[in-house]
Amino acid sequence: MDFIKNSTSIIREHAIKLMNEYGLEDWTFQFCNGKQLHGKANLTSKIISISRIHAIYEQNFNAINDTILHEISHAIDFKNRGYSNHDKHWKQIAREVGCVPSSRGYGKSTVPFTKKQMSKYIGICPNCNKNYYRNRRLKVACRNCCNNFNNGKFSKRFILIYKPNEDYIQL
Ligand SMILES: [Zn+2]
Ligand SMILES: [Zn+2]
Repeated sequence: MDFIKNSTSIIREHAIKLMNEYGLEDWTFQFCNGKQLHGKANLTSKIISISRIHAIYEQNFNAINDTILHEISHAIDFKNRGYSNHDKHWKQIAREVGCVPSSRGYGKSTVPFTKKQMSKYIGICPNCNKNYYRNRRLKVACRNCCNNFNNGKFSKRFILIYKPNEDYIQL
């Protein structure tokens, strides 16, 4: 498989440059281990985090840039009014900084690995055998079986049984 691997130091530099441009000199930039989430802004600790996997493997640099700007616009929004969400005030800031004014950001990931390949474990339902791909072995029950046989409520009978995923790719 052919894919681009981005440099985390270049992305870090780029993010810090953007953060400084928007007056966030007192904010910290860091990478986090999220696999589904692309980025997050911890508004009270003043930390902007970008998923390491998103940063390294996203094939379209504009998508990474968009994630950074998305989090920066939350930070600006928070500075302006003490909280932030995805309402019209935030959307206005998002447009001004030049990112997609949507909670879903740039949209579909171009990381060249599937969720299956990025999941350490397979959680198997002891009742219907449905496979759930997960990175943590949380004590949860099969959603389908809880819905179909227990009025949508948790039941011990359907707690997932985990095994290592043989297709897992350590990134
Ligand atoms: Zn957001
Ligand atoms: Zn099930």
